[in-house]
Amino acid sequence: MKLILLGAPGAGKGTVANMLSEIDGSVQISTGDILRAAVKEGTELGKKAEGFMKAGDLVPDELIMGIMKERLKEDDCKNGYLLDGFPRTIPQAEQLQAMLEEMGEKLDAVVNLDVPRDVILDRLTTRRTCTSCNAIYNVKSKPPKVEGVCDECGGEVVQRDDETEEAISSRLDVYNEKTAPLAGFYEKEGMLMTVNATSSDAVVAAIKDKCGLAA
Ligand code: AMP
Repeated sequence: MKLILLGAPGAGKGTVANMLSEIDGSVQISTGDILRAAVKEGTELGKKAEGFMKAGDLVPDELIMGIMKERLKEDDCKNGYLLDGFPRTIPQAEQLQAMLEEMGEKLDAVVNLDVPRDVILDRLTTRRTCTSCNAIYNVKSKPPKVEGVCDECGGEVVQRDDETEEAISSRLDVYNEKTAPLAGFYEKEGMLMTVNATSSDAVVAAIKDKCGLAA
């Protein structure tokens, strides 16, 4: 499967990508995870991205395209990929299209995960993330077995810096202004599939159906 997962922060892109990846081996590529790892390691990329991320702003397109040009050429992308959090602006989408054309590749679909704002706010303020393997938890619906410790890898489970109420509100504004227009962009291309994403299981079922994967 080669998919773009579109949707506001907290719409469940990461969860859905994870579930799909287990089904058919497509690799999940999250630009947010790549950037957080770079910040943690203190690389040049991380130093450039950190301020934007903490403020809930987008990292400049040039940096993101630099990452993705390399990432999509890696071997594990041959089995398919699930783009989670990329593209996030029209220029990123245009450059991705040019890149895919050059590589002779075609996406199966662009899935727009539609979730009401109040559900998103609740999900994000209660979300916790493993700093080592990026596993996602929720203090209400899916807490780790031991508080603060990842069930998968034993890493530290924390609230992300950009998941304070102030940063979340800014991220949602940025989403509405810069990323939401991508739905129109891909609709014109005839690639958009919008799904009610209140339940991740229902989203996965709809995508499997669309992509012809066995139930
Ligand atoms: P995410 O985990 O996808 O919500 O991303 C966390 C943060 O990383 C975002 O709020 C942005 O600051 C940055 N980021 C991730 N992906 C992109 C992208 N495609 N374009 C610009 N900034 C990004």
